[in-house]
Parts: sequence; C-alpha cells; structure tokens
Amino acid sequence: MNKTNRKLDALNYHSKGRPGKIQVVPTKPTNSQRDLTMAYSPGVAQPCLEIAKNVDDVYKYTAKGNLVAVISNGTAVLGLGNIGPEASKPVMEGKGLLFKIYADIDVFDLELNATTVDEFVNIVKALEPTFGGINLEDISAPTCFEIEQRLKAEMNIPVMHDDQHGTAIISGAALMNACELQGKQLSEIKMVVNGAGAAAVSCSKMYLSLGVKQENLVMFDINGVLNHDRTDLDPMRMQFATNRTDVKTLSDAMVDADVFVGLSAGNVVTPDMLRSMAPHPIVFAMANPEPEIDYETGVATRDDIIMATGRSDYPNQVNNVLGFPYIFRGALDVRATAINEEMKRAAAHAIAELTKKPVPEAVNLAYNAKNLKFGKDYIIPKPMDQRLITEVSMAVARAAVESGVARKQIIDWDAYAEELRN
Ligand code: NAP
Ligand code: MG
Repeated sequence: MNKTNRKLDALNYHSKGRPGKIQVVPTKPTNSQRDLTMAYSPGVAQPCLEIAKNVDDVYKYTAKGNLVAVISNGTAVLGLGNIGPEASKPVMEGKGLLFKIYADIDVFDLELNATTVDEFVNIVKALEPTFGGINLEDISAPTCFEIEQRLKAEMNIPVMHDDQHGTAIISGAALMNACELQGKQLSEIKMVVNGAGAAAVSCSKMYLSLGVKQENLVMFDINGVLNHDRTDLDPMRMQFATNRTDVKTLSDAMVDADVFVGLSAGNVVTPDMLRSMAPHPIVFAMANPEPEIDYETGVATRDDIIMATGRSDYPNQVNNVLGFPYIFRGALDVRATAINEEMKRAAAHAIAELTKKPVPEAVNLAYNAKNLKFGKDYIIPKPMDQRLITEVSMAVARAAVESGVARKQIIDWDAYAEELRN
C-alpha cells in the first residue's frame, strides 16, 4: 500500500460510522421500567447514601475502581510535538482502546486546555473522586516531571506518566535480558544515553535502580555531553552529569561502551560508532519513527550486536503496551494508593522473566513467526501474548501489597490469576 493510501485509510478508520474510537456501554440491565428506577431516581439514592456514610463504598457501587483517566494537554504528542489538546485526542482515545482490549480497564480520555503546572495539577486533583487511576500522557518536559511529582504527592490514587515510566519499565526488562544474553552484568556495563528528555531521564533512573552504576553512565542532550561544566542544566538532568573529562562527543563515549540507549532523534549514530563499542554490544535505538541507527544497519555492522527499536516492523520492539494495561490492572485490583518504584521494578522483572518461558503457539501464529524463543531477536514478549495480563498484573499487585500501598488484600492468588485469564 502506498503512503497516500495509508494516510487515507487511517483517516477513514477514524471517521467512518460514529466518529472516534470509543463509546460508553451500560453494564446493568436497562430493559424494564423497574431497571431504570434502580439505575436512576429513586433507586440510585441508596448507593448515594451508603457512599455518603462510607466514602470507600464508591468502589463498591460505582465504576471508579475500574476507571482510568488518560490525560494530556497535547504538548508532546507522539513525535509530533506541541499540537494542542484537540489534536491529541485520537492518541488518547487510542490509549483508552488499548487499556480496554488488553486489560478490560475503562478509560475516559481527557484533553485539557492547561499548560502551566498549577493549572494542570489543580484540574487533575479535582478529578480524584471519579477515577481509580490517572495515566498522564504526552506532556512535554520539564513540566511533565513536576506535574507527575506533585500529583503523586497530592493524590491518593495511582498516577503514572506513561511516556516516562512505561518506556523505562519495558526497556529495563529488555536491558536485563540483553545483558544476560550478552554475558554482561548490569553493575559493570558502560552505558551511553543519547537524549536527556522525559524518556531518557526516567529510563536512566530505572536502569540505576536495576543495578547500573551512575559512574558508568554518560548522557547527552542536543548540546552535547552532560558534565559539570554545563551551566544550563536543571537538577533533573544535572544528576546525570558525568565526571569523565575524556568524553566530549558521542563518538568519544561510544568507544568501548557496552550499551547505547537512544531516546533522542533519528540517524545520529554511525556504523563507525557501533564498530568502536565493546564486544557483544547492546543498542536500543528508540527514537520514533526513525531510530538513532536503523535495525538493518546495526545488525549488518556487528554480528555480535543485540538491537531493539521502537518499531513494530523489526524484532525487539520496545512497546509500552507491554506494560501500562497490566500495571494499572494490578494497581486497581489491590486498590493501590500509588504506582511506586517497587511496583515498576516488579513489572520489569515479570516482563523479563516471561520472555524466557516457552512461547505459546498462538503467539507464533499471531506474528507469523515459526519458533519465537528467548534469544537476540526475542528479548521481550510480544504485545499479543495473553500471559502478560497474569504475569505482569500479579507481580505488580504483589509488589503493591508488599510495599504497603495496597488498600485491598488478595487472599486467593490462584483465584486472582484465574480471574485475570478470563
Ligand atoms: P523529549 O522530552 O523531547 O526529549 C528529547 C531529548 O533528546 C532532549 O533531551 C533533546 O535534547 C535530545 N535530543 C534531540 N536531538 C538530539 C540529538 N541529535 N543528539 C542528542 N540529543 C538530542 O522527548 P522524549 O519523550 O524523551 O522522547 C525522545 C525520543 O524517544 C522520541 O523520538 C520518542 O519518540 C522516543 N521514545 C520512544 C519510546 C519507545 O520506543 N517505546 C518511548 C518514549 C520515547 P535537548 O534537551 O537539548 O532538547
Ligand atoms: Mg505517549
């Protein structure tokens, strides 16, 4: 299919029939007058009164516990930049659709005319009674850091900015597996991170929490290496300033590096840079839609490389959909008050471990693959793997319980697993 046709197809997909991609569907009988007197006045007064007596009953009598808000202000949409809240709506509806099909979570997508931290935080905080969780989406850096930090501190339901943490969790899982396959220890790898935006900062924090040493990490933004000579860096970035004085350019940093992580812009890494890396290098070129170096060039340049990108047309796609539906599923099911570091690490480990288990035939079929097996072309699971919901959601729920943020206990974990499978 040519490019024009693909564009037209995408527009038709969205506009045909009822415009958009989602609708609201009642979950209770509405067939008789009696049903309606219960759904609305006068019957509805009973749950209102119960909730007024005990506010936690809102989880018992309303949809709150399975309802997530996907919220954006349209300031950093996909790779399209600041295109505004209305233009971000197709993305947010799409995210809602993914929550629904992968984890049966209902979503209201909310696109806000709010660009300052205060405005945004005030609006979202006021929404707490409605939702079981908040998925922040496509908000530009550095505002996104402060917005998330404040909402996490000031709200009592889970809040996660998926562009930061989703990518961190999935690429963290991929990193653990790639290191295992390449015979490298996280505590010893020398890592180069190109990009110092929302994704790069939060991925780097995750890698440190998984065992990478701060002194072994060198980060770049568009102006070059982050070091202590820089006077233009905010504290969020300054924490990644290197003490190394021998590194000025990306080429310098790539010499003998074990891992390259790209969350910057397309085509900024050259084959020569790859050749200068340590034996058995790991390259995650995740800029979208054009990676820092394309998959084919990477594997043609080094036969000992493990490569991942953000693209679905090559092996090892780092795709957030492996994480967010199940992270929220697990958090909602134990009524967690937060999505904390323990829960994120648990998700990363669960995703990494699942990759090593035998792949069901249905997954091979779905991807037109013969024999997917843990190895350099399969370092993370495929999105259509139906085991993700049990493995990841349960790991997240357990971590919530163990780290003390669960407000509801799960007594029978086997029954919970069964419930997740159905
Ligand atoms: P962002 O907040 O705008 O950050 C981009 C960062 O890259 C900035 O720090 C920018 O430097 C830096 N940069 C731009 N061009 C560069 C260059 N030529 N050399 C070095 N650094 C450069 O965006 P983001 O949300 O972090 O996303 C960054 C990229 O990662 C995007 O392409 C996005 O699509 C991709 N991404 C992929 C995935 C995935 O694969 N699952 C997930 C998240 C993000 P300044 O700070 O100096 O401007
Ligand atoms: Mg996003």
